Amino acid sequence: MNREFDIVIVGGGLVGAALAASLRDSAFEIALVEGAPPASTWPAEEWDSRVYAISRASRRLLKEIGAWQKLDASRLGPVAAMQIYGDDGRSKLAFNALDAGVDDLAVILESRQLQSALWQTASEAGNVTLITPARPEQYQADRDGAQLTLSNGDTLRARLVVGADGAQSWLRQQAGIEARAEAYQQWGVVANFDIERPHYGAARQWFFEDGVLAWLPLAGNRISIVWSCDDARKDELLALDATALAARVADAGGRQLGELTTITTAAAFPLRLTHVESLVQAHVALVGDAAHTVHPLAGQGVNLGFGDVAELARILKAEHPARCGDYLVLRRYERARREAIYLMQGVCHGLQKLFNNTNPWLKPLRNLGLGLTDSLPWVKQQLIHHAMDN
Ligand SMILES: Cc1cc2nc3c(=O)[nH]c(=O)nc-3n(C[C@H](O)[C@H](O)[C@H](O)COP(=O)(O)OP(=O)(O)OC[C@H]3O[C@@H](n4cnc5c(N)ncnc54)[C@H](O)[C@@H]3O)c2cc1C
Repeated sequence: MNREFDIVIVGGGLVGAALAASLRDSAFEIALVEGAPPASTWPAEEWDSRVYAISRASRRLLKEIGAWQKLDASRLGPVAAMQIYGDDGRSKLAFNALDAGVDDLAVILESRQLQSALWQTASEAGNVTLITPARPEQYQADRDGAQLTLSNGDTLRARLVVGADGAQSWLRQQAGIEARAEAYQQWGVVANFDIERPHYGAARQWFFEDGVLAWLPLAGNRISIVWSCDDARKDELLALDATALAARVADAGGRQLGELTTITTAAAFPLRLTHVESLVQAHVALVGDAAHTVHPLAGQGVNLGFGDVAELARILKAEHPARCGDYLVLRRYERARREAIYLMQGVCHGLQKLFNNTNPWLKPLRNLGLGLTDSLPWVKQQLIHHAMDN
């Protein structure tokens, strides 16, 4: 079967589904092609170990498109404060929402809950056709648009094809857009725990010489962790049984929340930095991890992707549908996003390199930097506002 659309989005993860939902009520006819449809139900007592710190800017977008309202409010973990510790056992940088004049700095929520809410929002849009499970196998571009051939032989033609298909983007490769990936030689190990003492909404992060450990407050007496670490530490953590893992994580955080109890098995994700040579070409645009990846130490990867969505949707909606694949229109999206992407990649990469470094001269300097920042309220305010509103 041959079908025609204005826009085909390849990849219905968080970012692709958010883009489709953002373009609801527009004049575009949209297809969202996803390899594996997301789960819509799961046992209520289970907690997803993939969680995100959603910034206030992302929350505004999710509210605007109607996805936030579909989340189960009892499973959201507002972040009221952040405590960041250096690797000398003394230096500390602390922020709190009250000082910033807001109710919370971010909200921690489960990946599958957000994915399901976004998918449902996209599916309710009258101008969005969900095509799943499906994967394109061929890509051909010409002067007027691009054509995708799916594995069942169907073809989809569109003026614009958007790659929202993640860090290894198939569409990016087909379009011949170069990507430079730098592996951090690190893994993000994630798991959830019950805690003995309440977290009071505080997120905690420790910079160690060989990695970064974050404790993120989940709803109730629970936390989720992301431990960015090398191969050896990842293997060690994944080999521990539930009791030993809880003890190891509690010790690494100085038992600040008392005893921990493991409630999900640990999983590990490889960490890499990806720069792409261009976010667009005629009839093609990249968003989310297809366009950039960052180290998770600032919890900003998907927030950066939602920033792409807000900008691309704004630019496209201002155009006549016939022009949505024009290079000059798409270049406006690229120009608008370049700085934010470079800045976030630079900050996360710089921090990762600064702390993951055994140079003895750097250790006192980086810890001094943390302490100094903590003592300068104006600098702290700037940092908080940038992180919240990214
Ligand atoms: C350990 C860890 C912790 C993180 N924590 C945070 C955090 O706290 N805050 C934050 O903002 N970010 C965080 N991130 C980053 C975040 O996970 C990613 O930025 C985000 O998931 C990217 O979403 P995406 O939709 O662009 O890509 P993906 O999530 O990779 O989704 C891509 C989608 O495309 C589909 N797909 C792929 N190829 C095809 C194809 N050929 N055809 C059809 N469909 C296809 C896939 O099935 C998938 O559904 C973290 C990352 C890691 C590794």
